[in-house]
Amino acid sequence: MIKRPLARTPFLFTAAALLGTSTIAFSAIAASPDPATLREAALQDDTAWDILEGITTEVGQRLAATPAEARAREWAVAELKRQGFANVHVETFTMPVWQRGEETAEIVAPFPQKLAVAALGNSSGTPAGGLTAEVAAFDGLDALVKAPASAVAGKIVFVNHHMAAQQDGGSYGEIGAIRRTGPSIASQKGALAIVIRSIGTDHHRVPHTGVQTWVNGAKAIPAAALSVPDAEQLARVLERGKPVTLHLSIGAGMAGTGTSGNVIAEVPGRDPKAGIVLVGGHLDSWDLATGTIDDASGLAIVTAAAKRIMAAGKPRRTIRIVWFGAEEPGGFGGDAYAKAHAGEKHVLVGESDSGADRVWKVDFTAADPKAPLADRIALALAPLGITRGSARAHGGTDVGPIAQVTGAPVIDLHQDATRYFDIHHTADDTLDKVDPAQLRQNVAAWTAMLAIAAEDAEQLAPVAPAPER
Ligand code: ZN
Ligand code: ZN
Repeated sequence: MIKRPLARTPFLFTAAALLGTSTIAFSAIAASPDPATLREAALQDDTAWDILEGITTEVGQRLAATPAEARAREWAVAELKRQGFANVHVETFTMPVWQRGEETAEIVAPFPQKLAVAALGNSSGTPAGGLTAEVAAFDGLDALVKAPASAVAGKIVFVNHHMAAQQDGGSYGEIGAIRRTGPSIASQKGALAIVIRSIGTDHHRVPHTGVQTWVNGAKAIPAAALSVPDAEQLARVLERGKPVTLHLSIGAGMAGTGTSGNVIAEVPGRDPKAGIVLVGGHLDSWDLATGTIDDASGLAIVTAAAKRIMAAGKPRRTIRIVWFGAEEPGGFGGDAYAKAHAGEKHVLVGESDSGADRVWKVDFTAADPKAPLADRIALALAPLGITRGSARAHGGTDVGPIAQVTGAPVIDLHQDATRYFDIHHTADDTLDKVDPAQLRQNVAAWTAMLAIAAEDAEQLAPVAPAPER
């Protein structure tokens, strides 16, 4: 494990640069509540790595509302208590359970060969013995939307696309629509099943799973993703111009109702009227790997940052850490939290859920873009190489709902997503993908933010609750 802090912009004289990086210097400054000092000390943080390594090793995958996620909650409660947080407890809720089964795909004709495939969330299974049908191919979601039902009915739909890696991960919103809504559209046009090119930017034979939901009365059909190389292979076979037949065998399906829950912990504030700064990530993961970058790293980052504030003395405001349950299948934990805590004063909310690579940009909700508090936070983040953006912060699936119902200001600490969609929702989401130095930069960013947001008497003006997304 690399112990050196992340290289910083050379012309900025940070506290660490001035004081040196000896253990003595850091232990001497760690007790100060000054944001810059706390930020520099956090660049030596090991707590985030310990949490990340611990949960991914001792729990592994944590599919929502399954016994694995229940084990993760038990692990979380023990860990948050061990770290010294207060009010550690679980708030449970019930939800539908989806489970994966055996899954295979192969081209039957004209060139028989196996393809790497993974079912999407809420996919139904194929009939016993699988399903064989001709492929109807579409280049993008628009082409599927415009296709007449006669081009789709009785076939296996294949949707291709061309997603490229981006620092802000922006294409996930647009191209991800193929996964989120493509299955319902195919089903409504009478397709027997759908396979999409994985919503991913890698070229490895690891399919990317992810949630889709059946809308507008669409009946559940088998819905799956091919790995990117397999989707490209299928596209080349289709280009030969002969009818292509696929055989799919998907064992996935709904499995009744189960229990999930949010795990909550706090650093109690000095002033109960000063409100809550809420930080979080999600505890559940997809079932294909150990959910390291999605989203054990987010839990580790915000928790390590809150711990550093706690160690520096009691902040003015309560810092509440939430390890949300069941984010992946549709944000059940975020919705349950918003329902249970809408009456509490949330002064700032933020979540970490784009991996473990460095934070590169900060955005705030725009009620008062010139707020001095936002300026102070941005200034404290700048020495970490973090730019102030001009977009309106939106939080994410976990803290979005509480921001919507309360109008709480949101902060987005955007992580560099260039690598994120190479690994996201695949069997490759494992601990070795995390760079410890970049993980520590994240902790430093969240620590500096919390040092200001939980301490300054000023707060950002609440914003009008956003309309339903
Ligand atoms: Zn996530
Ligand atoms: Zn995810």
